[in-house]
Amino acid sequence: MKVFNSLTRGFVELSPVDGETVRMYTCGPTVYNFAHIGNFRAYAFEDVLRRAVKFNGMKVKQVMNLTDVDDKTIRGANAAGVPLADYTRRYKEAFFADLARLNIEPAEVYPAATDHIPEMIALVARLMEKGIAYRSEDGSVYFKVREFPGYGRLAHIDFDSQRTGLRCAADEYDKENVGDFALWKAWEESDGPVGWDSPWGRGRPGWHIECSAMSMKYLGETFDLHTGGIDNLFPHHENEIAQAEAATGKEFVRVWMHCAHLRVNGEKMSKSLGNFFTLRDLLEKGWTGREIRFVLINAHYRSGLNFAFDALENARRALARVDACVEKATDGETPGWASERLDEFTAAVNDDLNLPKAFAALFELVRDVNGKGGGGTLPVFRRMDEVLGVIFFGRAAKTELPEEVRRLLDLRAAARKARDWGESDRLRGELAALGWSVKDSRGGQECTRAVDAVK
Ligand SMILES: [Zn+2]
Repeated sequence: MKVFNSLTRGFVELSPVDGETVRMYTCGPTVYNFAHIGNFRAYAFEDVLRRAVKFNGMKVKQVMNLTDVDDKTIRGANAAGVPLADYTRRYKEAFFADLARLNIEPAEVYPAATDHIPEMIALVARLMEKGIAYRSEDGSVYFKVREFPGYGRLAHIDFDSQRTGLRCAADEYDKENVGDFALWKAWEESDGPVGWDSPWGRGRPGWHIECSAMSMKYLGETFDLHTGGIDNLFPHHENEIAQAEAATGKEFVRVWMHCAHLRVNGEKMSKSLGNFFTLRDLLEKGWTGREIRFVLINAHYRSGLNFAFDALENARRALARVDACVEKATDGETPGWASERLDEFTAAVNDDLNLPKAFAALFELVRDVNGKGGGGTLPVFRRMDEVLGVIFFGRAAKTELPEEVRRLLDLRAAARKARDWGESDRLRGELAALGWSVKDSRGGQECTRAVDAVK
């Protein structure tokens, strides 16, 4: 399985250092809000990656952190007047529910930052002992960027001209403002009740130290693979490398993989443009997790993805075609032409996760089955879906209705019971606008996706 390593900017064969299990760390959500679809592009990419690793016969141990203490979570909790843990719990639960909606396989470990403060303090202490970190007047601890010779290696930037000894207290900053970054942040008024005692005084960890400490705890001081969105590459991942390698003297991560940006209708997602969507927003509009997943993964992960509603329409139609075709597929001896499609699919997946090409192989298979019959092709669909995770096998699953559709159907059932035919028709219209058609039968309402009804 060949992948693109952002660190060397070249292709590399992905293989676990222990010959068995790919140990993989993925930067997880900051749980101060509902995650948006840009976030989910990265999580869906990582899901396909871990599925592809297993598809190739290797095992996976994936660790994804939950950032439940940082500037944003503290601000949110204190503004709401609730303890930090209560504030973040709601968003942690929402995050896991969202992952399930997108058929994203759970990671093996989800460490929360607030459960690992001692590990972070220990790592900062190690850096202090090595003389590569220092305590500032206010009780914060900073990493001396100038003292770490490899700094800038991941971002491929020579920082020599900029190493002015500036300090940067914020977790995020751009390449022009590189400076010593915070490992530990001294308590300040705005932190309210949030803080932990440390050898340097009361405070809280910086964001970057969290990932170095927790990844090494669960995966070892050198591990196989670290991924994230391209936004995380600098400064977050650059700083993770500096912290870990300065402390251990060992290579931190063998392969780095980053997925590109997501745009909505050709523009950067922003609340002011009205093109900012959480997963929940899209589910409420009547799209299913499966359709959204299809759009998120059906682009090469290193290419920008333009998320548009006509892409969701296409996903709905394409998946309906696959569903109808899979119904004709049976177990048994796989015909040669179907094995060839699987070979094409496998080659595409193993060519740096070329999912558009992998999907093309799936749709060629659909065309073949529609022409030649589905005998013996079910194992091929199942094998492809180990990576894709978008095919419904079996009728029961196909009746899965989005929450918003279910809600409208309940309202409509109540309206019909009350013989309010006007309201019943109005709700039928609302359902139609979401792409669903309703038929009334003796058994109640039968709801099908409009594309299925057309077919
Ligand atoms: Zn991270």
